[in-house]
Amino acid sequence: MRAARCLPDGDFVGTGVGEAVGVAVGAGEGVGVGVGDAVAELPFTGGETALGPPPMTEHAPSSTAAATIPDPSMKRSSRTDLPAATFGGRRLAPPLRTTGAMRIAIRTGMLYDGTDAPPRSNVTLVVDDGRIAEIAGNAERAAADRTYEAASVVPGLINSHVHLEVNGEPDTQTFFLIRTPTERTLDAARHARLALEAGVTTVRDLGGSESNAIALRDAVARGEHPGPTIVPAGRAICMTGGHGFFLGREADGPWDARKAVREQLKAGASCIKLIATGGVLTKGAVPGQDQLSEEEMRAAIVEAATHGMRVAAHAIGTNGIKNALRAGVTSIEHGHLLDDEAIELFKSRDAYLVPTLAAVWRIYENIAGGAQPEYVVRKATEIYQHAGENIRKAYRAGVKIAGGSDAGTPYNRHEDYAYEVELMSTVLGMSPQQALTAATSIAAQLIGVDAGVLAVGRPADLLLLAGDAGSDVRALREPRVVVKGGAIAHERP
Ligand SMILES: [Zn+2]
Repeated sequence: MRAARCLPDGDFVGTGVGEAVGVAVGAGEGVGVGVGDAVAELPFTGGETALGPPPMTEHAPSSTAAATIPDPSMKRSSRTDLPAATFGGRRLAPPLRTTGAMRIAIRTGMLYDGTDAPPRSNVTLVVDDGRIAEIAGNAERAAADRTYEAASVVPGLINSHVHLEVNGEPDTQTFFLIRTPTERTLDAARHARLALEAGVTTVRDLGGSESNAIALRDAVARGEHPGPTIVPAGRAICMTGGHGFFLGREADGPWDARKAVREQLKAGASCIKLIATGGVLTKGAVPGQDQLSEEEMRAAIVEAATHGMRVAAHAIGTNGIKNALRAGVTSIEHGHLLDDEAIELFKSRDAYLVPTLAAVWRIYENIAGGAQPEYVVRKATEIYQHAGENIRKAYRAGVKIAGGSDAGTPYNRHEDYAYEVELMSTVLGMSPQQALTAATSIAAQLIGVDAGVLAVGRPADLLLLAGDAGSDVRALREPRVVVKGGAIAHERP
């Protein structure tokens, strides 16, 4: 048994984290919750119904949680809890293993709670039964099964725009076409694990070829596979021959757009993705041009809202961004060629912007390698000239920015989400803490999960870091310990 080490003034030694990992500090018998006890009483208190347990997270939604996740796009729906249902009559098995059975104390030099509130210094968090049980001064010795030390603690990162089936291959379209469905399933499972190990505890998958992300969401929720909480859109809905058609659901006309939404609902999707303009990674698609019409998107959005599903729209071109906002999307993905009128629409519609800066920056930074198709390099370079300035303007004007990297696109890896947080700080002018807030609580509000805020009673998805993320976001790279649902998901040796 080793006592936690600290400096005389109470500041913790950052390098002590590694040594403290895994060291149990004085858990007496009868203290905390034994694993065996928890197994007997845990399985899905969230209420298993014919449709199965809540699919988006292993934590049952609490009234507190619901109250903190307002979403103006949900007005048509009577739902107040987490959106989305597992549909199609599949009944999920109970979880194979429980999470959060261990009582963990974390002594940290700095605690960033996922909001812009001032950080707290020298506190101890106690995690019990999957949630944060206490946050107290370090002087008070918390009873726990294990005690950890960290220079700083932050919420688990939330990446609100990923594609789990790919991970940085230089030619996305060709890779999709040569990969078999079985290979894509295995790829998606591996990428989910890599994301979690890098501190990403929640992702929204905005488009895959099959229902891989949907099946993976359920496997992760049951404890069968390591990965973040997954909010999947199923297949992206695009016009015939539109951006991403090689993996998407092509739809033409308002009723077909509605049917395409119903198909994703049937497959078990938690949200919907629409393609409002051309994109970079599809040969022949022009990012500045409109694709799905405002009328088609409005029909899809009304249908999605009927079933409690939020809608994200891929939109790079100026007019397509405005079409999607007028149609009523919850978030614009990319938004790189927005103008002043679009900024006003964002604000009047209370919509979010997910800037996916890393998607553009990583292509641009890797041009010299020569492995990317000419059309990808050409389109990304054009966008690169405008994206930073435009998104920065939107941020300064008060548009809500939620973190999302488009992980999976060329050289833009699931385990590298910290780079997007870094870009939000350096390119958009956010402070490190504001960038962290965008990648945690604001992203959680956008996608509708009970996560992203560290407070008593909230789910314990959090990261133990060796540095102070509030003074340098690069501390988010390689978290020492990843806690998800109150359980140790990953420890770095
Ligand atoms: Zn994307």
